[in-house]
Amino acid sequence: MRSASDYISARALGVDASGIRKVFDLAAKMKDPINFSIGLPDFDVPDLAKNAAIESIRRGDNRYTPTQGIGPLRERLRSEMSAEIGRDVGEVLITSGVSGALFLAILATINPGDEAIFLDPYFVMYKHLLTLAGGTPVAVDSYPDFRFYADRVERAITPKTKLLILNSPANPTGAVLSETEVRSAVDVAKKHDLLVVSDEIYEPFLYDLGDARKLPSPAAHYDKTLILRGFSKSHAMTGWRLGYAAGCDPIVAQMAKLQQYTYVCAPSPFQHAALAALDVPMADAANAYRRKRDIVFDKLSKKFEVVKPQGAFYIFPAAPKGMTATDFVAKAIENNVLVIPGNVFSGRDTHFRISYAVTDEKLVQGCDILNSLV
Ligand code: PMP
Repeated sequence: MRSASDYISARALGVDASGIRKVFDLAAKMKDPINFSIGLPDFDVPDLAKNAAIESIRRGDNRYTPTQGIGPLRERLRSEMSAEIGRDVGEVLITSGVSGALFLAILATINPGDEAIFLDPYFVMYKHLLTLAGGTPVAVDSYPDFRFYADRVERAITPKTKLLILNSPANPTGAVLSETEVRSAVDVAKKHDLLVVSDEIYEPFLYDLGDARKLPSPAAHYDKTLILRGFSKSHAMTGWRLGYAAGCDPIVAQMAKLQQYTYVCAPSPFQHAALAALDVPMADAANAYRRKRDIVFDKLSKKFEVVKPQGAFYIFPAAPKGMTATDFVAKAIENNVLVIPGNVFSGRDTHFRISYAVTDEKLVQGCDILNSLV
């Protein structure tokens, strides 16, 4: 007779959650920790959007929407993104978060054995979703400064390589690809005929681009680019599950077909609320994070080897010499500061991730404690 665990697929067993689980097991024992582990904004959804969601529910927007999402939201995003990027980005698909968009994008493109390249350190989901789809994740080293090294990427390309997944601003490093790096990534993609998947979920959080404040996107130079963006980070709606994909119609159409049989549609009232949220200026949030970025960098660079992040709300310092990141993180946790070891996001166990989306007071306290451990 089969035991319950005998029903579990090789696919599910092939995904390893141990890295993050270990951190949360440790965290469960902490009392009121300084929590630098959470990848979400510390502000709440803007009131205008909350009210729009409530009104939308009262009005009766409680049924399925079209799989692609509600028309006015899709049209608004299409026109705004097209103006920003400088070409018509085509049909927009509203998804259940950027996670939903990533899942559908990978299902729509990856055949068993296909390879997809992304930079190491990476957002963990890339590796696992590719594995689930039967593809092969190929992580290309971007240490020590987390830049895009075209020569390293080219060396990793094989006849099976299909996707180049870019993430700028990046989780967990906060690196932002410069215009030159974006052009070099596009050159590689064109030369080897790769589809670019550009995860731009942290697009509103850019700190060093001056007044232009426009994210360099591969979509501006290459029409085989699928842009993924969302509301989780921009509007603190992580629980509302809203993202979107655009930039490459044939892929977006396949994603829409697959959405019909998986997520069906993104949550209806929140699509209406997201449309209203687009009218809320969010620059204050980005400015607050820039200031926090400066605080954390100024403090930690006194004791740690650390690259100055240019976007998102993460910083990725190296653990002190002679220590693995896992050992250092255990020490930080003993001292009530919760950070994530780099091996969760990387083949290396040398760095750790701080999410600085916390109050200034906690940020200063936590940095002082970390500095005292070196
Ligand atoms: N991409 C990156 C780089 C992320 O950091 C995250 C969330 N941590 C996501 C995608 C997914 O976000 P969501 O599903 O909430 O839109």
